[in-house]
Amino acid sequence: MSGKLYLVPTPIGNLGDVSRRSVDILERVDFIAAEDTRVTAKLLNHLGLKKPMVIYHRHNCARAGGAIVARLLGGEACALVTDAGTPGISDPGEKLVALCAANGVEAEAIPGPCALTVALSVSGLSTRRFTFEGFLPVKKKNRTIHLNQLDGEERTMVFYEAPHKLAGTLRDLADAFGPERRLVVCRELTKLHEEVWRTTLGEAWERYTAQEPRGEFVLVVEGCVPTEEAPDEEGALMRVEQLRRTGLSLKAASSQAAQEFGMQKRRLYELALDK
Ligand code: SAM
Repeated sequence: MSGKLYLVPTPIGNLGDVSRRSVDILERVDFIAAEDTRVTAKLLNHLGLKKPMVIYHRHNCARAGGAIVARLLGGEACALVTDAGTPGISDPGEKLVALCAANGVEAEAIPGPCALTVALSVSGLSTRRFTFEGFLPVKKKNRTIHLNQLDGEERTMVFYEAPHKLAGTLRDLADAFGPERRLVVCRELTKLHEEVWRTTLGEAWERYTAQEPRGEFVLVVEGCVPTEEAPDEEGALMRVEQLRRTGLSLKAASSQAAQEFGMQKRRLYELALDK
């Protein structure tokens, strides 16, 4: 085990979710890069492990990242862990992996807990196609741009949010997608007070403006239902007339125009006859 970065997921609540392979790697690496060493120390304690740690979080990632990569280039092995979940998903892990890639250092991801996939899989909404939106921007202007980009989004959308910003985010989502849009609120996943609430954006906004949200939240929002465009019957009839002037029979002209306008041949023929 040398010169490699291991991305080790940690439980998002239930300590039983740390895998055997993750424990094995934490045991064997030379050092651990942790978002908060106090949080990771608790986990290591629980696992009966002791390991040197360095801090790697969003405020020091530029400096700390360089130092970690230098050690990896020197042949050491490092496990990157965050406070909870999979490193790189809505946390600075992404930057360290990019730095490793830029310096020719190998990175290996261990599968494991991630609030995104737990919420999505329990949501009951379509998982065939989805988009992970993470945390919405805090600044109003950037948030509006982001939400405008999601206008007409048909895929299921997954958002992370902190409890103190939840009500405001629900209001903005309800404004953007309508209060009737289906939502699954996934709260405190894998923990004692886990709750999966299948509701709507409007209803959830009402609840969390009346009652202070507690715990950690993932919001899974249904994509918009694709609207079937009504065929342009007027345009199709005009096209029939145009084709008739070239000498085609009513039947042949209706058939060709129907094909061009995505209409049923019979329906257009009957409309043309009525005219
Ligand atoms: N890397 C982590 C992952 O793999 O999910 C996410 C880190 S992000 C900084 C933290 C956010 O994840 C929280 O604000 C919340 O939206 C979500 N989250 C983490 N643990 C959760 C849990 N047990 N239940 C619900 N949401 C959770």
